Amino acid sequence: MTLFQKVWDDHVVVAETPQIPAILYIDLHIVHEVTTPQAFSVLRELGLPVRRPDLTLATLDHSTPTTPVSSFEDLLVAGESAANQVRQMEQNCVEFGVELLGYGSGQRGIVHVIGPELGATQPGKTIVCGDSHSSTHGAFGALAFGIGTTEVGHVLATQSLLQRKPKTFEVNIAGKLPAGVTAKDLVLAVIGKIGVNGGTGHVIEYRGEAIRAMNMESRMTICNMSIEAGARAGMIAPDETTFEYLKGRPRAPKGAAWDAAVKRWSQLRTDDGAIFDKSVTLDAGELQPMVTFGTNPGMVVAINDPIPQGNDVSFRKALDYMQVESGKPMTCNAVDIVFVGSCTNGRISDIEEAARILEGRKIAAGVRMLVVPGSELVKKEAEKRGLDKIITAAGAEWREAGCSMCIAMNGDIVKPGQLSVSTSNRNFEGRQGIGARTVLASPATAAASAIAGFVADPRKYS
Ligand code: SF4
Repeated sequence: MTLFQKVWDDHVVVAETPQIPAILYIDLHIVHEVTTPQAFSVLRELGLPVRRPDLTLATLDHSTPTTPVSSFEDLLVAGESAANQVRQMEQNCVEFGVELLGYGSGQRGIVHVIGPELGATQPGKTIVCGDSHSSTHGAFGALAFGIGTTEVGHVLATQSLLQRKPKTFEVNIAGKLPAGVTAKDLVLAVIGKIGVNGGTGHVIEYRGEAIRAMNMESRMTICNMSIEAGARAGMIAPDETTFEYLKGRPRAPKGAAWDAAVKRWSQLRTDDGAIFDKSVTLDAGELQPMVTFGTNPGMVVAINDPIPQGNDVSFRKALDYMQVESGKPMTCNAVDIVFVGSCTNGRISDIEEAARILEGRKIAAGVRMLVVPGSELVKKEAEKRGLDKIITAAGAEWREAGCSMCIAMNGDIVKPGQLSVSTSNRNFEGRQGIGARTVLASPATAAASAIAGFVADPRKYS
């Protein structure tokens, strides 16, 4: 059996038939302020409680300003509708008895950052959230995927979900990543190779030497972007690196329960000889820092390579929108905004990577750089390590935790026509603001670009 099959089989309540999908039990439901108001309203109308508040964890991330908040007026920085979403979430959590890691908790943050850092994300769990990048949690050997608003309501009411069983896709990363090449570069290269629909209908399992050598934060970056290849989820088998990361975290098992959990989790690996529906292999040793040049994450190129030629209408349209030219490298393009943050690259190692490049340097005149920690705990840790001082000394802004410019719902917006080098996960038209031009990159490439004032190769600043 594959890792996916083992976790799936453990959670099937009712098997699927040609007529109906399987009913899958959900171990952890993480909720935030954007996809829940309607779901709670439906529960209220039907007179239903939340079935398992103890398996439901709420936070505030999408609509929260990245400036300090101590009153409703401070929330209005993000706009009236965003501020109301936050207040409504706070009220819904009180009414339905759901634990909210909100303002004053010291643990507020992006849904996919707080689950792992608190140890709530664990191997073998089924985890859902009303955000597409829930695949992040798969880095622990969990089966985790994004769900829509209606499904959020189903899970709140029943702690289960209707699902068709996906197929399996092995992405094998052989060899070692060269110096200066990161997990973000690797996953962009994977999406470039298999395409934005390459994983459709499948759960990807990332395997191979380069994956085994990665720390948990890099593995989270990889699994996070699975959805950008069209996959339902991404998974990595848990190992010693996983157990070491989880041990001692507030919501991880303790004592004898920890020993039993590790024994159980150690079985969560693909058996020798198990067959995947699809398979692809990449050589990590051949990779370079990668950046996107178009309007989906599959339109990606090595930092110094020319943008490829393409004649189809959507390719031309994407290049026109981005105001970039085939035959020229992305390093020709001047930068207006740099964003380091999001559930893809807003963890402590990401901020450290950006700070390493920024240290002792100044960002270019006319460039605005925002560094947004993925959670309040990440912010605290970064400040303990003095990273905030390095970042502000370089001329960048050190902000409060949240999704920020990943989705531009909180007032942090890229202006029309501006070019943004962003460590987030989506470069669709308008994702960071109407008319915004987004270049996806690693934290190192983002920091190097802020210093150069152009899209830049981070290896020159190491
Ligand atoms: S950072 Fe972006 S992708 Fe991640 S949870 Fe927030 S909005 Fe969703």
